[in-house]
Amino acid sequence: MDQSLGSVGTVSLGLENRDETTAAKAVAPDARSITPIRLQGLYGHDPLQNHLLAALPPRDFQRLLPDLEFVVMPFGMAVCETDMQMTHVYFPTSSVVSLLHETRDGSSAETAVIGNEGMLGVTLFMGGGKSLNRATVKSGGYGFRLKSNLLREEFARGGALQRRLLNYTQALLAQMSQTAVCNRHHSVSQQLCRWLLLTLDRISVNEICVTQSLIATMLGVRRESITCAANKLHADGVIEYARGRITVLDRPGLENRACECYAGLRKEYDRLLASRNVR
Ligand SMILES: [Zn+2]
Repeated sequence: MDQSLGSVGTVSLGLENRDETTAAKAVAPDARSITPIRLQGLYGHDPLQNHLLAALPPRDFQRLLPDLEFVVMPFGMAVCETDMQMTHVYFPTSSVVSLLHETRDGSSAETAVIGNEGMLGVTLFMGGGKSLNRATVKSGGYGFRLKSNLLREEFARGGALQRRLLNYTQALLAQMSQTAVCNRHHSVSQQLCRWLLLTLDRISVNEICVTQSLIATMLGVRRESITCAANKLHADGVIEYARGRITVLDRPGLENRACECYAGLRKEYDRLLASRNVR
């Protein structure tokens, strides 16, 4: 399995690049034992690359900025486990996180994906606190995190962040609901197209670092079914597949082959999360 940073190129964290105006901190990748490291230059990594943060009024964003910690989120990193009390929420900028629901016998299925449009940790402001799912990074990259108590404080202000997070939670619920019906009623080929498109929407390139066996785990289907569906897409010239790497060659072709779930979900995300030009 490819343990690299996935679709994101190697980026130096730039300890030597001093930019006194950068207030955000940076931290190491392990979510369970992170030691904050103050970096004074983030080589272009900016919390505003996360759309939820970017949609905040400048005053609200500036209030949060000193407490946003830069995080490296490599492929495969477990950001949180099921029933874990989350200490931070995460705002991905270039990484993509997968929410996985696991059964007692070890089977699992992806219930939602979170990228630069959203935030990991909605249960923190909903009152439950503990994570409902395991969250792992499925496309390596970067993000920013905020301590849970600070998120709660900001949410309790009742301002723009609260409104955005409530809209985002509704979008996330829509995705979970759509995924449940898709997994039950649509073909593996259609599910694969939906899965590829949802991932593609959250990264800046047309290449996804993933094995067929990982896709099978995320969709909760047999690996042979994914191989068969991927071979058909490859034969039709829609994707190119090399070991551990899928390149999408024909995005409209992928959209045409996806079930209604993708288009419906995209419309709902656009409706709920469209920037209201508050900056
Ligand atoms: Zn579907």
